[in-house]
Amino acid sequence: MHRRRKGKFFTFTITFFFVFLMPWKLGQQEWVEVELALQPEYQAGTALLIPFPPSDQGVQSLQLQGRSLLRLDDKQTWFGVIGLYGGGQTLLHGRVDQGRPGFSTYFRRSLKVLVRPLGEARRLNVPPEVWARVDDRHEEQKRLEREIMQEVLRGDQWGPLMRGCWKRPVNSIMTSPFGSPRSLPDGRRYYHVGVDLRARTGTPIYSPGPGVVAWAGHMIVPGNVVVLAHGDGLFSRYMHLSRIDVEMGQKVSTGDQLGLAGATGRVTAPHLHWEVLWRENHADPLQFLQVWEQICHPK
Ligand SMILES: [Zn+2]
Repeated sequence: MHRRRKGKFFTFTITFFFVFLMPWKLGQQEWVEVELALQPEYQAGTALLIPFPPSDQGVQSLQLQGRSLLRLDDKQTWFGVIGLYGGGQTLLHGRVDQGRPGFSTYFRRSLKVLVRPLGEARRLNVPPEVWARVDDRHEEQKRLEREIMQEVLRGDQWGPLMRGCWKRPVNSIMTSPFGSPRSLPDGRRYYHVGVDLRARTGTPIYSPGPGVVAWAGHMIVPGNVVVLAHGDGLFSRYMHLSRIDVEMGQKVSTGDQLGLAGATGRVTAPHLHWEVLWRENHADPLQFLQVWEQICHPK
């Protein structure tokens, strides 16, 4: 008896919702086209600048992969990064204000994202003595370190974006590009989420721009690692160092020495592995440098 009454109430609520509320709600939403200067396709890891449309089309916010693009009013542009693990296709969407009270207007555009298949992975030639210090016997510690690193890279306590101009952390050639699929001696496959820059052990590594040291220390896979925070979810990371010259919480300027290159952690030879992340999406650091040129503030 009690149960039947409950059931009736439930049916009534559902009917009421569909018959009366839904049409009203749907009537208040619409999708519009907005003219934005977009390319038909992007490499995964692309740092993206989307200029404001020439005539005011009322675009209030843009979202990509669950992240709001950053609105840079002084440059009349939005900034964001297309992640490496979104794969294939991604949706850019946003809210548009067309000056009609009570109406919610939205815009959406599907973007093609180019990413190399993991099946093309090249086997990383990790020397046995290196593998012994990073293999699965250290799984528990590695898991702990991954969690700490994720927390660091999610940190939002670093204030607004620091807009100073950047330069390379070491002036040398790239030896391994961003986004290449790789496989480990145990068969696990992953994407190279940074670039490798040639640097023999002892080569000074410099801060590319203004930032704060968000983390510095030793971890199993990255070896001696420094993470810089540059505000608003922008981070950069420096791995395999032989020496660290900065402390957590320290402010750094463009060209300050972070440490020395080395071969700590999971490496095949000494080099600098350099990453740039925006709101946990990995950017291709070299492409990011070009894009940043257009929006940075020179001293
Ligand atoms: Zn690397």
